[in-house]
This record gives sequence, C-alpha cells and structure tokens, in this order.
Amino acid sequence: MRQPLVAGNWKMNGTRASVEALLGGVVSGAAAIGHCGIAVCPPFPYLQMAGEALLGSRVALGAQDVSIQEPGAFTGEVAASMLTDFGCTYVIVGHSERRQYHGEDDELVARKYARAVEHGLVPILCVGETLEQRERGEMERVVAAHVDGVINLSGVEAFSKGVIAYEPVWAIGTGVTATPEQAQEVHAFIRERIAARNAEVAAGLRILYGGSMKPGNAAELMAQPDIDGGLIGGASLVADDFLGICQAADQAA
Ligand code: PEP
Repeated sequence: MRQPLVAGNWKMNGTRASVEALLGGVVSGAAAIGHCGIAVCPPFPYLQMAGEALLGSRVALGAQDVSIQEPGAFTGEVAASMLTDFGCTYVIVGHSERRQYHGEDDELVARKYARAVEHGLVPILCVGETLEQRERGEMERVVAAHVDGVINLSGVEAFSKGVIAYEPVWAIGTGVTATPEQAQEVHAFIRERIAARNAEVAAGLRILYGGSMKPGNAAELMAQPDIDGGLIGGASLVADDFLGICQAADQAA
C-alpha cells in the first residue's frame, strides 16, 4: 500500500509575514490529518523559518530546486548538503517552469535527481507534456523521455528513492485540470514503463498529480488507482485549500 503524499510548491511567493501565517495554518490543520504524507516547499530564503515552524509537526520540508554541484564556486546555486542542513526531506526537480525558463533538459534534471538521492533527499521528479505536444500526439514520447532520463543515468532502482509528479504543463496554474481519466492514463503509462524494468519498484513508487488541483477536484483524482497524491501550486498558498486536498488524499487511501 503506497502512502499518499501531498506536497505544496509555493514557487516564488511569500513574505516573512505571509510565510509565517501560512506555516501556522498548515501545521495546526495538519495535526488532524491521519495517514497522508504532507510537505511544503517554500522559496530558499524561507527554508530556515519553515524548518523551525515545522519542527515537531507532521509536515515535512522540501525545496524547489537543487544544484548538481557540491559546495564551491557556483554563484547563485544551492547544494543538496545545504538543503539537508536546513532540514529538508524533499526536493522538486525538473519542474516545467525550470525546464521552460531556465533551459533545464532531461540530462540536467537526471543529474539533480541523482545528487538529491546521494544526499538522502527524496526528489520529486516533475514530468509532463505541453498542450502542443499533447495535440500532436506526443504525450507518451515526452513523458517517457522525462522518466528515462533518470533511468539512463541512475538505473530504474533510483525510483525506489524518489517520487514522480505528472504535471501536464497545460494544467499548471491555468485552472484547467486533467480529467481523472486523462491523469490516470498517464499515471498508468508511467508505472507500466517502470514496471517493464522492475515491477517491485513500480508498485512502490508514488506518482502524484499536479495541475490546478483544488479541494473540489482532488477526491475524484485521488480515487484513481495510480494517483498517489498531489503536487499543489496555487492552492498550497491557502492553508484551508491545501489541507482540504490533504483530507481528500487521506480519505482515498
Ligand atoms: C505546480 O506548479 O507544481 C502546480 C501544480 O501548480 P498549480 O497547482 O497552480 O497548477
């Protein structure tokens, strides 16, 4: 039985005051959530604050990116060892916004995934096609390439140490959510692709859905057999909405 996970990707949002308030709301509400794993991924400058606020709670800390480099002369980069130093459990790698605005390709993302694992972090690998790719019938090719990047560099066993988030780019921040059937089709495709190499790894792998998930649509998405939780952007900035999604994950488990 896979434990569901709901992770909040706060992206580049927040102030000290809003982060403090959001953390307070998430921590107090999370105490009432039973089984589901919960994580929040604030921007780097708020990791320390968040780590302190989450201490002793059932909410884990994550970051939104990690360097492939070890500490040294790499201006602007943040090393995996720094993330663990600040209490991170998770790190998002290969988010579509990083692929789109920072030119991250599958090879770089796979190296980030490997670096995270090497340092005991749990990488959340984002995969997903754009609308144009879907309309051209390229969804499977694109998603397979995102998944295969990690397999080619680290072997399929690396997926026993991480999480995948299927995030169709056309659903991120658009208010358009994949239907449960569309999402399930891709989640099953990902699991089958991994199962073809290692059935045990595939069976244990958590595959989250991300893309305009809200309390109102979370339950039907989570009810799908291969959807094991969510990576939440906009709705994770409102404690009650985020917790509503956690509750849906809990009830679906
Ligand atoms: C995301 O960016 O990871 C995401 C899922 O965003 P949103 O929930 O806002 O679509």
